[in-house]
Amino acid sequence: MIPFLDLKGINAQYRSELIEACTRVIDSGWYIQGSECKAFEEEFAEYCGTKYAIGVANGLDALILILRAYKEMGVMCERDEVIVPSNTYIASILAISENGLVPVLVEPDIDTYLIDPNKIEAHITSKTKAILPVHLYGQTCEMDAINAIAQKYNLKVIEDSAQSHGAYYKDKRSGNLGDASGFSFYPGKNLGALGDGGAVTTNDEALANTIKALANYGSHKKYENLYKGINSRLDEMQAALLRVKLRYLDEEVEKRRAIAHYYLQNIKNKHIVLSTLRAEDNHVWHLFVIRTKNRDALQKYLLDNGIQTLIHYPIPPHKQNAYTEWHDHSYPLGEQIHDEVLSLPISGVQSLEDTRMIVKVMNDYQ
Ligand SMILES: *Cc1c(COP(=O)(O)O)cnc(C)c1O
Repeated sequence: MIPFLDLKGINAQYRSELIEACTRVIDSGWYIQGSECKAFEEEFAEYCGTKYAIGVANGLDALILILRAYKEMGVMCERDEVIVPSNTYIASILAISENGLVPVLVEPDIDTYLIDPNKIEAHITSKTKAILPVHLYGQTCEMDAINAIAQKYNLKVIEDSAQSHGAYYKDKRSGNLGDASGFSFYPGKNLGALGDGGAVTTNDEALANTIKALANYGSHKKYENLYKGINSRLDEMQAALLRVKLRYLDEEVEKRRAIAHYYLQNIKNKHIVLSTLRAEDNHVWHLFVIRTKNRDALQKYLLDNGIQTLIHYPIPPHKQNAYTEWHDHSYPLGEQIHDEVLSLPISGVQSLEDTRMIVKVMNDYQ
């Protein structure tokens, strides 16, 4: 069986360095908010090109904390609206709801699966305070158009970079394309910890300080609390492991690019729609997603031929039971995407032989 993602194989590449990092943390006697997290924050900020990175417990918290900080700073308040794509992983939307803000769903571009900037303005009201573009599958959104709209209406731009570590838009990287960005280091992400982890990146010092305090019980100074905060921290062990993997991230992405290229050039089947790539380094291929009318049949056919695939994601957010209030809303493109997408195996440890086999099986599908 060709696995969808061989996480064990991915981490095995760095085994001795990861063990060394663990040992360093064990022997340090310091496990929360120490030198590893601080060093990772500096290294990750430098990688993204931002002034600040703040380690937090996971990607959902990163997005929740950005919005919460804007509320504390008086930029937005409960019941204000945040624009978000109709086809995303539910976490992008949960972060908005969790803050008592209202998610306003906007349809994507069917070719790139990214929020369509041409459809945003029609959804802006006097309550709109932010746009939350999701660089879904690893490709950056049309940020010039999105930032221009944000500027015109005085909105914040909050990137969901959970799938796009290292992806460029023109000369800047994901995480440095708006006012603030949330990252996830869930093990399966392109930069994955060996547990949960996340980060916020920003160039805004006041926002960075507010998030740092909010994530640590609302405390800016030991035993003094400015806010009714939460506990959401990146622990020393995960930070130390991430420092190892960050050094290899660009290499990992290049390997994913080579596989994606091979798929794009060689998969030729009238039943399969390949995704549209804007520019080479805009995409880090967290997922290689194709579309097909009879998706479940293709998935079964591939499985019968020894190829494991996944669906990202089978149920659109507005059809989830968590959001019954949206069940009568219609987002036809979002629905079509959720009905038709299938993610093929891709990773830095996938062999050329396996990639070739996948292409052959895909091309033989009738
Ligand atoms: C993974 C993911 C998240 C959430 O990250 P966690 O670390 O799992 O909380 C948010 N948004 C998107 C688009 C994701 O893919």
